[in-house]
Order: sequence, then structure tokens, then C-alpha cells
Amino acid sequence: MVKAAVLTRQGGPLEVREIAIGEPGRGQVKVRVHAAGVCHSDLSLANGTLAQEVPAVLGHEGAGVVVAVGDGVSRVAVGDHVVLNWAPACRECWFCEHGEPWLCVHAEEVARSPYATLDDGTPVYPGLGTAAFAEETIVPAAGVVKVPDSVPMDQAAVLGCAVQTGAGAVLNTARVRAGEAVVVVGLGGVGLSALQAARAVGAGPIIGVDVSDAKEDLARLHGATDFVVSGDTAAKAVRKLTGGRGADHAFDCVGLPATIRLAWSASRRGGSVTVVGVGGRSSTVEFSALELYWFGRTLHGCVFGSSDPDVEIPRLLGLVEEGTLDLAALATATTDLAGVNDAFERLGQGARTIVLF
Ligand SMILES: [Zn+2]
Ligand SMILES: [Zn+2]
Repeated sequence: MVKAAVLTRQGGPLEVREIAIGEPGRGQVKVRVHAAGVCHSDLSLANGTLAQEVPAVLGHEGAGVVVAVGDGVSRVAVGDHVVLNWAPACRECWFCEHGEPWLCVHAEEVARSPYATLDDGTPVYPGLGTAAFAEETIVPAAGVVKVPDSVPMDQAAVLGCAVQTGAGAVLNTARVRAGEAVVVVGLGGVGLSALQAARAVGAGPIIGVDVSDAKEDLARLHGATDFVVSGDTAAKAVRKLTGGRGADHAFDCVGLPATIRLAWSASRRGGSVTVVGVGGRSSTVEFSALELYWFGRTLHGCVFGSSDPDVEIPRLLGLVEEGTLDLAALATATTDLAGVNDAFERLGQGARTIVLF
């Protein structure tokens, strides 16, 4: 039995319970989790914004050590340090074969099958297939990416979602280049990672936008050259900082209609707008037919930073080694398993709360 933070009903709190996870089957890997970041998507799964079968163990931004491997696993061995990957690619479907493994049609299947049981035998689902809010988890071999032992676990964890998503949006989806103007709306772990990636490629100005000016220092620490408080005048403030045109690239890292509209209005004619935040099924964003034509903008959706973790995580670690990406700055608070509910309350405030085991 291992301790896990279990969601028994959407809308309810996570409860620390004992679960039985057994041994890895063919093609599976068992990981002792050392660190797990608390991501906004965990809250969306917990509160019902996103669908989730229960009971479930959430947590999809994790890192740990492989403690057992099932038959047929050659990718990793016992003792390897790994980052969990919540979108394991099958490498065989149309999307995988066409270089877009983040859109793999099979990536979500793991999350739909129970992987553990409560002490009364009730099957437990792994949130986003990774179930990192537990002392141990079992995932398919494609659900782990090996990292050097020298990478601290809390820093490895944030690579698993926030950094791949935020930096990936900048590097892969929008392909920001040196000298281009960037605006990032919503400065949680993902948005701050986007700022860092913009800094890493030499973009500028880099404008951070959030609801409160309490975020300004954090934004600047992560690469923002300017900071704007969101609201009715925010898009105008961004245009003022960008020669009156608007940013070449705007990123919405929130997923609300108002923030997507803000990113849209803060970008220039012919610029790009990338929707990184995961919004609700029933939230709708309106565009007039004329503005879609007239502004000549490109609107991108961005799943998992349009990145293949097998390629992206080593590349991001290379940037860390160069000193252009600062993972330590992202892990701003730590807690234990019982503290995840409180960490949900703090999601708007800092960068990332990391559950340490
Ligand atoms: Zn996440
Ligand atoms: Zn696939």
C-alpha cells in the first residue's frame, strides 16, 4: 500500500488514503515519486471543469525514480531518474507518424483505465494517466522520460507540464525569434515558463500580464521586460509598448474568454495568438467575421507545447545547462500530500507549489 491524495468526488477535497498499486505489467514502469507540481489542470479535474472518473489520483507533473519494470521494457531500468509524461505517444497513429505525437489519438487512454484500488477494492483511476500525487505510480514505458541523476527532483517535475507547455508554446507553436515582441497573459507556472523561453530566444519587449501587480517582481524575475495589469486598458498598454502595433506573438495561459480576447487585442495585425490555457467546454469566445479577416492574425491552439517530451525534455535541460532557463525559480513553494488542497487555493499567487515525498 502507498499513500496517495485521492479525489473521491469532483468538487470535493483530495483525501490522503492508502491505495494498492501492485506491480508493473508488460510494457509498464513503476516509479517512486519524489516531487510533483500542482498544476491548474489538476484543479480543473478536481472541481469538475474537466471530466474525471472517480475515485482518482491526480497529479501529472511528476518526477521520481524507476523502482520496477514490466516485461518488454527497454526504455528505462530500475534506478533511472525520470520525468512523468502525461501524453505518452503510441508512435503508430497518423499523428505520431506525421510528427505530431502531442496529438496522439491514444495518449488519453491510460487515464481511462483503473490502475490501483482503495483498501475496500474500489478501482482507482490515474488522473491524466500519471497519478503523481502518490508515493508510487505505474505508467506505460512511454509515460516516462529519463533525465540525468544530477537534475534536482523538484526541477525535473516542472519540466513534466508547466515548462514543456509554456516554453513549448513559445519555441514550437509560435516559433518566436530574436527581437520579436511577446505578450504573455496569465503568469502561473506555464506563463512564467513562456516568459523564460521568450527571454531564452532573445525576444523583446517581453510583456507579462496578470490580474494583480503583486506578480510584477515574479514576472521580471522570469524574463518580463514590462508588466501590465489585466483589464480594459491592458491591450492598449501593450500596444503602447510595441510601437502602437501590438505584440508579434501573444500567449493566453489562462483559457478564459476574456484573456483570449485580451491576447487577441494585444497582438499586432498579422501577428500570432496562441491559446495555451485549458478552458471550459461551455466557455465561448466571440470574434466578428470582419476582425478575423481584417487583422490577418493567426490563432493557434497549443496542446502540451506542441512538443515531443522525448525530444523536448533533453533540449530544455540543455537550455538549463546553458543558464538560459531557470527551473529553480519556478518551484516557489513546497508542501506534502495533505497540502495539495491548500496549494489549489494558492494557484493564482506564486509559480509552482511542489509536493515533496
Ligand atoms: Zn499541467
Ligand atoms: Zn499515436
